[in-house]
Amino acid sequence: MAQIVYSSKINKIRSFALILVFVGILLMYGGILTKRIEWLMVTFFILGVIMVILSCVVYLWIGTLSLKAVPIVCPNCEKPTKMLGRVDACMHCKQPLTLDKDLEGKEFDEKYNTRRYRKEIRAKQKEKNQ
Ligand SMILES: [Zn+2]
Repeated sequence: MAQIVYSSKINKIRSFALILVFVGILLMYGGILTKRIEWLMVTFFILGVIMVILSCVVYLWIGTLSLKAVPIVCPNCEKPTKMLGRVDACMHCKQPLTLDKDLEGKEFDEKYNTRRYRKEIRAKQKEKNQ
């Protein structure tokens, strides 16, 4: 089985924003190609502009996210990286990282960041305490 490589969340969102810009430009280019059909051209242009604006919003969002991210030094490659959420991957070497001691040594899974998982953990802890 192929090993799944987890890329850091910030990197993922960044590449998503980049793709959005390219799609937007392509759509506007499509608008130029179809300028003979006015309604098609206008549709392409509007869609393209929306994509570019959306990518700007995503970039702003990454900016605020990186402010919230925890800066750490990767234990594997010893480069500074940033973490989002309880589990994330190193930006440089894709080393899975966690801030949660309970999750140390466990297999990396995006589900540890979901609210449902946290609820489950809390429920389990309650059972133990009773
Ligand atoms: Zn690393």
